[in-house]
Amino acid sequence: MKLYKQAANLIKSKSKIVAFTGAGISVESGIPDFRSPGGLWEKYNPTEYAEYSAFLKWPEKFWKMHSELAELVSSAEPNPAHIALATLENLGKLKAVITQNIDFLHQRAGNSRVLELHGTGETASCLSCQKQFDRVMVEELLKKVQVPRCPDCEGLIKPNVVLFSEPLPANVFEEAKQELLESDLLIVIGTSLSVFPAAALPSLVSFNNTPVIIINEEPTSLDSSASIVINGKSGEIFPQIIKVMNTDEETN
Ligand code: NAD
Repeated sequence: MKLYKQAANLIKSKSKIVAFTGAGISVESGIPDFRSPGGLWEKYNPTEYAEYSAFLKWPEKFWKMHSELAELVSSAEPNPAHIALATLENLGKLKAVITQNIDFLHQRAGNSRVLELHGTGETASCLSCQKQFDRVMVEELLKKVQVPRCPDCEGLIKPNVVLFSEPLPANVFEEAKQELLESDLLIVIGTSLSVFPAAALPSLVSFNNTPVIIINEEPTSLDSSASIVINGKSGEIFPQIIKVMNTDEETN
């Protein structure tokens, strides 16, 4: 409980907070992460299923994995950790969520500034004519075929997610850097910090000695430089911290 109080006090004293999130924050919404036991990589080898060159070669493999993930995402709801981040924005403390997730749950929870480093599963593009599709349109196509193609030009359709070996959207990356450099507290939730270049971003705050709180089930490479590390489930821990912060009692 001492760590919760320390975290609550730190949050209470700051007003330019940025959150950096990964797949772990959505696990309690029913979407598995990639690397934990039972995660997607146990079933799908990333070099076959999530590399851009593999997508071009075997689009049917990618769509098999993506359709499974998309089905889970479409039935998922924001969990208490997503909602606690929206609460922090409503309190005027949280300036931005920088996420590696593609599940749109931060926006659905109510966060207004969400920087999606790895794109989104909500939309897709034709790789030939760049026509845009929303998720529902793609789901309709997938009812008839294994690999959806553009009705206009027969080009391959790909969700607007960043696959391995694809560049990150440059404008989003720059905005994320700016948010981190201007922040007065960074809260990292549910990420193994092992997918680069996204995973390098949180270390930027060390230039300004900005404090860092980490909430994750297992240790991360940033733990040694963080002010507070709490290991466990973010859907339980983070709302509890916000609750402690909102109580009138002195949290020392
Ligand atoms: P990761 O799978 O590498 O790591 C997830 C981390 O979350 C692990 O360290 C794990 O211990 C922790 N974790 C698991 N359950 C947790 C919980 N309930 N509470 C707190 N922590 C928990 O995920 P990553 O670091 O985000 O990187 C993998 C890539 O996977 C990202 O690029 C992301 O785009 C993609 N991805 C996204 C989704 C999604 O959108 N929900 C799902 C799977 C993968």
